[in-house]
Amino acid sequence: MLKTVAAFDRIGEENAFAVLARANALAAQGRDIISLGIGQPDFRTPEFIVEAAIKALRDGHHGYTAANGIPPLREAVAADLHKRHKVEVSPDNVMIMPGGKPTMFMSILMFGEPGVEIMYPDPGFPIYRSMIEFTGAEPIPVPIREENGFAFSAEETLKLITPKTRLIIINSPANPTGGVTPKSEVDKLVAGLEKWPNVAIMSDEIYDHMVYDGEKHVCLLSYPSIRDRLILLNGWSKTYAMTGWRLGYAIFPGKLYDYARKLAVNLHSCVNASAQFAGLAALTGPQDEVASMIAEFDKRRNVVVDGLNKLPGVSCVVPKGAFYAFPNIKRTGWKAKDLATTLLNETGVVTIGGPDFGILGEGYIRLSYANSTENILKALGRMNEFLSTRKAA
Ligand code: PLP
Repeated sequence: MLKTVAAFDRIGEENAFAVLARANALAAQGRDIISLGIGQPDFRTPEFIVEAAIKALRDGHHGYTAANGIPPLREAVAADLHKRHKVEVSPDNVMIMPGGKPTMFMSILMFGEPGVEIMYPDPGFPIYRSMIEFTGAEPIPVPIREENGFAFSAEETLKLITPKTRLIIINSPANPTGGVTPKSEVDKLVAGLEKWPNVAIMSDEIYDHMVYDGEKHVCLLSYPSIRDRLILLNGWSKTYAMTGWRLGYAIFPGKLYDYARKLAVNLHSCVNASAQFAGLAALTGPQDEVASMIAEFDKRRNVVVDGLNKLPGVSCVVPKGAFYAFPNIKRTGWKAKDLATTLLNETGVVTIGGPDFGILGEGYIRLSYANSTENILKALGRMNEFLSTRKAA
């Protein structure tokens, strides 16, 4: 029997990937599958970005880069944050990462150990809890409630802080709910955090471009009182339809930057060089394709919410960001994961059960509307027929 580290028995997963594998297997058997499961844009990466990566390879950028990323890309990230959110960031605090996930991985590793607490949103991105458990820290869920439009509540968050709290993870616009936390609530949270100067914050803003109804994204970097303990997670995956490129960035303050750089050297050396040149083109090139992708998501959002609210036993609050809807299915009588599995098996519609995002996800399923309007309408039609005729298991 191999003796391995116990932490590996505690590490979790992201069930969306298992569901994707199952859906692909069904599709390979000839089943007509409509994917509203995995959270990735259905658009292609804009052509000029692809060309920039090809050119980088042709120009000979096939070697290692600095572990923290190529300087022009770090400068472009700082300039982009300034342009979009009016925040000053030094390129010296920008770390280029192989995706968004490694930032949460590293940040949680920096703060988690037995005897401390880390707070995270529930329902929320499943990797937060998984990594907290991996480190042996105690995961403290912060409830994200439908009655708040799936925004987090500053009051509820602040009440959960204890002297053992080391890190608070927040995410807006949010996965899996599409919730966007209003500025008034973020203001309150930051004011409350001033009383807890030893608590770090990781703000996952990977969906920061995808905010609808004329709202403006609130970037946590714009609050000076927490800048010295704020980690920002962001990247190219969602905004530029680049999930498979594995390209993200983090802003790390103070000594955390050097910790992250050393972790990178130990773990992946540097991010794929051509992907970094693609990322540079993405930030410095025309943004009109991003704007049209987001406008398209906005249209589909209305289609999906309207359709869901017409389904028997289903109600759906209007998500204000990202590309997810998180309908309440409690009145259907189905348990969420049973419903998601049976929908896939019997109708070919891929959704994710809310409990895959935390205990408070029971009673909800997640639909990613990163699919064509035609497919969304077809999926809603199949769900309607299913829920009208099939009794809960
Ligand atoms: N953060 C949130 C909230 C996400 O939903 C995702 C991906 O689904 C990520 C981070 C990870 O992004 P990446 O694919 O760039 O690692």
